[in-house]
Amino acid sequence: MKLLAPNLFQISDLLPNAINMFLIEDSAGDVLIDAGTRWARRKLLRLLAGRRLSLIALTHVHPDHQGAAAALCEQFACPLACHAADRPAMEGREPMQPRTPFIRFSSRCFAGPPHAVSRELREGDEVGGFRVIESPGHTPGHLIFFRESDRVAIVGDVLNNMNVLTTITGLHQPPAIFTWNPDENRRSIRKLVALRPELVCFGHGPLLRDPEKLARFANGLA
Ligand SMILES: [Zn+2]
Ligand SMILES: [Zn+2]
Repeated sequence: MKLLAPNLFQISDLLPNAINMFLIEDSAGDVLIDAGTRWARRKLLRLLAGRRLSLIALTHVHPDHQGAAAALCEQFACPLACHAADRPAMEGREPMQPRTPFIRFSSRCFAGPPHAVSRELREGDEVGGFRVIESPGHTPGHLIFFRESDRVAIVGDVLNNMNVLTTITGLHQPPAIFTWNPDENRRSIRKLVALRPELVCFGHGPLLRDPEKLARFANGLA
């Protein structure tokens, strides 16, 4: 686990920075943002052993973010939170979005079992000192978590800081084949830039402490 900012740790799986999860230490109980693939279950159980987990919150419901959520919720007897629009996919009532063969295939390989969502997050809610920012597009219910005091943003897959096929570092929009509505996602990228984050924590790729670079990238989008 790597300390990124006060009370904020990064956990990576597969390769360094390839699949990122974030632990927020909070006096009311720790909060885990995202839960990797189902293959991350044992690693997460080992890393989080002895902690008091009060919530698992998902940026969005995709196989590489919800994988170990059910197992961790059971182990730590803690609730699971996501946006209402991604809830049916988390609970197994609908397929994940977008409904493409790519998502179906990666669900079979990487997704964890469905689990009940007991808290629906919406714009302005607070989780472990971070504000919930609705950022639909990659999935209908995608969320960013933003901490005003030091301008840290946990951004899921609104943007990748790595080519998810080659793992080479660099800012990219998430691949269209894994994205529900790319236009809507570009609006969410602009919403992220408007927050002027000093530290951006991605679902995939190393963190970024360069607001100018982020703004230049967003300005270059169609
Ligand atoms: Zn995703
Ligand atoms: Zn992802």
